[in-house]
Amino acid sequence: MTRRPFVTLLVLLLLTQPIRAEETPVQVELDTSEVPYLQTWGDDAKSLIQEWHPRIVNLLPTENITPPQSIALTIKKSDRGVGGTAGTRITISSHWIEKHPDDLGLIIHELVHVIQSYPSPEPWWVTEGIADYLRWAIYEGKDLEWFPRPQEERGYKRGYRVAAGFLLWLESGPAPGIVKKLNTAMRKGEYSDDIFHAETGRSLEDLWSVYVTPK
Ligand SMILES: [Zn+2]
Repeated sequence: MTRRPFVTLLVLLLLTQPIRAEETPVQVELDTSEVPYLQTWGDDAKSLIQEWHPRIVNLLPTENITPPQSIALTIKKSDRGVGGTAGTRITISSHWIEKHPDDLGLIIHELVHVIQSYPSPEPWWVTEGIADYLRWAIYEGKDLEWFPRPQEERGYKRGYRVAAGFLLWLESGPAPGIVKKLNTAMRKGEYSDDIFHAETGRSLEDLWSVYVTPK
């Protein structure tokens, strides 16, 4: 009878091992051949993609659309720039990593672009706003006060962190689920400013004004 815990443990191990292997289907092909001294940074970036790919896929669901499961990550020798994504290819500049070795989170922003796989990036403030929303609000866990809130008309058109903060505010009250809806519309080439009105009864410009008006 004393053997039973051991047998139970063995059965549990056998049951859990194959399931774990299937939990990370994303393939990441890492190329650091131009900058072998950045191999560790590249390995960390690859692990981050494998950990966050399934989470971001689940946060941006669209019926009948399966985001890319295979990503090429290249760290390029360069003395300028940050990085970018074209299709399923993420390229990061060695210059940026050397200056900002702790900025691993930029990989999340680029990973979102791969998963978005929009047929057109226009309007780009939506594309970049969603990527920065997932990076800064969800991955980094920044609160609403952290995001820049420029007091100007249609300030959301600045994209990036400005649009990300606006999306976080919308998600937190006026339009829960708006990021999923915008993402699906962008994937289907059906984006329109009217989505904001349909969700809240207010125009995009009005929502922005409410967001930036001091209380
Ligand atoms: Zn971007």
